[in-house]
Amino acid sequence: GGGGSRIKSEFLANMSHELRTPMNAITNFASMVLDGVCGDISDDVRDVVGEIDDNGERLLELINDVLDLSKIEAGAMQLERAPCDPAACVENAAGAMEHGAREKGLQLRTQIEEMPSLLADERRLTQHVLINLAKNAIKFTEAGSVEIGVRRDEGDVLFWVRDTGIGIAEADQERIFETFHQVDTSMTRQTEGTGLGLAIARKFVELHRGRIWVDSEEGVGSTFSFAIPAST
Ligand code: ADP
Repeated sequence: GGGGSRIKSEFLANMSHELRTPMNAITNFASMVLDGVCGDISDDVRDVVGEIDDNGERLLELINDVLDLSKIEAGAMQLERAPCDPAACVENAAGAMEHGAREKGLQLRTQIEEMPSLLADERRLTQHVLINLAKNAIKFTEAGSVEIGVRRDEGDVLFWVRDTGIGIAEADQERIFETFHQVDTSMTRQTEGTGLGLAIARKFVELHRGRIWVDSEEGVGSTFSFAIPAST
């Protein structure tokens, strides 16, 4: 963005970095207590220290997300582009989701069309886009399946994550890609999250000169797709 937003982004990036160090110490000390480094602990203490550890981890995730976003907005995020195999991105993302899918009794599928390598930041596409989308798919699906796929679509490589979950109302389908936008903001909502995942996914897709969108029907499911130009 402009000058003001750049300074704000740089401030946020520095701030996030400063926040991470003490937060890492807190979760590391909590883990040490849980691991018995300070001797045996009662179940009550285990519960409380476990909460400290879990909440610390969530805060670290949030800090990392804010740091990533501010770096991107400051124009300071450098992609590490190299030839990568789109099929491997899908397989790695699916591998990372196996446990989560199994825990919820969801079928996890991949659909892969073999194709030439793509010049892209494989780690960012896999971690920040595909895995983010797949985590959401599992989070918002109670029964059925999650499919991760890739195919050629004219000059693009088209990736998708399809679920049979709660779906997203038409009115929310654009806004969920904005920072902190969540459909359900009630205190009683069942799912955890920061509302930053899709904003970050969109930024990384756009850094690849691609685009991302969702097709969804409430109560039926959602398909998140993103297309990366094959020539970049
Ligand atoms: P978070 O998941 O941390 O809340 P995201 O930016 O990843 O943040 O998603 C924003 C919102 O979009 C979610 O809170 C949810 O309301 C909606 N959403 C995202 N993915 C799905 C999905 N697969 N099915 C239904 N709703 C979704």
